[in-house]
Amino acid sequence: MTSTAAPPPALHPWTLSSPDALEAWVADALARHAVLLEELGSNAGGATLETTLRPYDDAVAVLSATGSQLSLLNSVHPDMNMRDTAQAQLQKVAQAGVALGLNRDVYQALSAIPVGEADPGTMHYLERTLLSYRLAGVDRDQDTRDRLQALQERATTLSLQFGRNVQESVGTVVLESADELDGLPEDFRTSHGPRTEGEHAGKIVLTTEFPDYLPVMTFARSAGLRRRMFLAYQRRAFPQNVAPLQELLSVRREIATLLGFETWADLATADQMMESSGNMQRFLDELDAATKESADREYNAVLEFARERGERALEAIDASSRSFWMEQFRRARFSFDSQDVRPYFPYHRVEAGVLSLVEQLFRVRFEPVADAETWHPSVTTWDVYQAGQLRDKAARETRIGRFYLDMHPRDGKDKWFSAAPLIPGIRGRQVPQAALICNFPGGSGDGDPGLLQHSDVTTFLHEFGHLMHAILGGQQAWAGVSGIATEGDFVEVPSQMLEEFFHDPALLARFAHHYQNGEPIPATLVERMNRAGAFGISDAVRTQLFYTSYSLDTHRLHPATLDLDQLLEEDYRRFLPYQWVDGNKLYASFTHLTGYSSNYYTYLYDKVIALDFFREFAADDLLAEAVTARYREEVLEPGGSKPGKQLVRAFLNRDQTPDAFTDWLGEALRP
Ligand SMILES: [Zn+2]
Repeated sequence: MTSTAAPPPALHPWTLSSPDALEAWVADALARHAVLLEELGSNAGGATLETTLRPYDDAVAVLSATGSQLSLLNSVHPDMNMRDTAQAQLQKVAQAGVALGLNRDVYQALSAIPVGEADPGTMHYLERTLLSYRLAGVDRDQDTRDRLQALQERATTLSLQFGRNVQESVGTVVLESADELDGLPEDFRTSHGPRTEGEHAGKIVLTTEFPDYLPVMTFARSAGLRRRMFLAYQRRAFPQNVAPLQELLSVRREIATLLGFETWADLATADQMMESSGNMQRFLDELDAATKESADREYNAVLEFARERGERALEAIDASSRSFWMEQFRRARFSFDSQDVRPYFPYHRVEAGVLSLVEQLFRVRFEPVADAETWHPSVTTWDVYQAGQLRDKAARETRIGRFYLDMHPRDGKDKWFSAAPLIPGIRGRQVPQAALICNFPGGSGDGDPGLLQHSDVTTFLHEFGHLMHAILGGQQAWAGVSGIATEGDFVEVPSQMLEEFFHDPALLARFAHHYQNGEPIPATLVERMNRAGAFGISDAVRTQLFYTSYSLDTHRLHPATLDLDQLLEEDYRRFLPYQWVDGNKLYASFTHLTGYSSNYYTYLYDKVIALDFFREFAADDLLAEAVTARYREEVLEPGGSKPGKQLVRAFLNRDQTPDAFTDWLGEALRP
């Protein structure tokens, strides 16, 4: 095999019809991976970028595409046998990844590459790769490396098991009568009639899937229903995930200790923008101090309001009633009822609106691919082309990526909202591919218009921000720096930056038209929504502080004495004024504990950068090309070929400051 050939075009695994075929597909990919490593080894004497880094990067590309696509199948394939096989095969791919990360021959070959003639992106890639080898323990003795390898493999097994338990755990709430739906929107009540057969025939049954959960928590007048839904949701995958989580935390602790770190949190920040867990703690303490008083004030205002509303005896509002009372408060104080905006957000219009906004923002063109094979009939496929002021016809016709939209819930499918890179782009050799896995209303085809809440609409754009990062950043020379391969704690910048766009009345009015009469959403309604939405920001930041602290503390305290329940309650009470609800087992379904591990801080840290970035865009013309083009060029296109701090400096001409974030908090506090 020559190293200049592109990796063979990957046949997508979802076109395969059986678990056997899937296993063969993985075996073939792992064989190609092994051949590339052999080629790399045979050139170790005269290592160069082309003879050594290229086969290394191709080996990484094969593993990445294989692992990402298997992971997708594990999350979305309608056939449980295929999901099971994908999960088992993921384990094999992860093993190959762990072995590669501890392979001393590869490390030495990469170290021997003379970097004199390398461009800065390649130099950064090499330096970062060598650092990750050292952090993985490549220079330890054989026994230690064997132990590290076994621990890493065990961590993968446990993480996969944890995720799968969450994916397959759907709680149900059986209603006592239709009266319990009081307060919920008309379209919700119409589409949730009593079951006609089965165990609960004659009863209305709700599930913990997002399209049921979110409206119940926001609108249901019945405190009993809200509480049952809250607990059903917070107890998903409990108790199944307790043992895997505890073991995972112990495994991570041992890995960190073997590598000379005190805790996993220290290891996990060593190659991040944050640099250390001490910096993380300081960052969190500052946010804590900045939001404590205002969050208490918000809470007291809502409690006072609830008492005025006839709940005189109410001593406190608990976590299961927080969204409901917040909504009631916003209706009264800001004349804003979030049900009023839903009719303007039927799913199909939102999808068209997001796609068209992103096309204009990043000067790209999306074309539906009618004949593409996917894993489910509801999935749509799109090709991405360059657009805008391209004089060169060839450039206009160049396809730069492909994406898949899998947007509605179904049995056995992952319950969350995410963007999944599938194939890393390599300039001139393979185009990047990615998918959105979401759970929005509207996929049932039974006449439900799929009316979204505004928060759903911003979630859609958030995930699309990840997707575009994968595609526009996927035109780099190396798979290892392609797309979202920045430091992990830069990843939520492009997604959160885009969320801000959907507070703009003009942008929303382009697509948010009433599902019955076609009227565009009134600017005054959007302005009221924004004012109402600003109330509760301190609370939202402190909710993130709670998640962040829990993810940090679970990875910092000693696993032998860690009490998951006690810590959860302590961290909750430390940050949130809404009363703790006994029986909350959030950790059992908190998948970020396996993915982000101790680094959940990424969301808050990146929010600071995202708001700083957003300020560069002109408030009266968010789509002004001078800024959008610069943003695409300086932030998204480099992918992981530059350190995050350089991306920030390139776009802002300075380091980030918390000023925009502080102003954002301050706006919320203005009476
Ligand atoms: Zn995100």
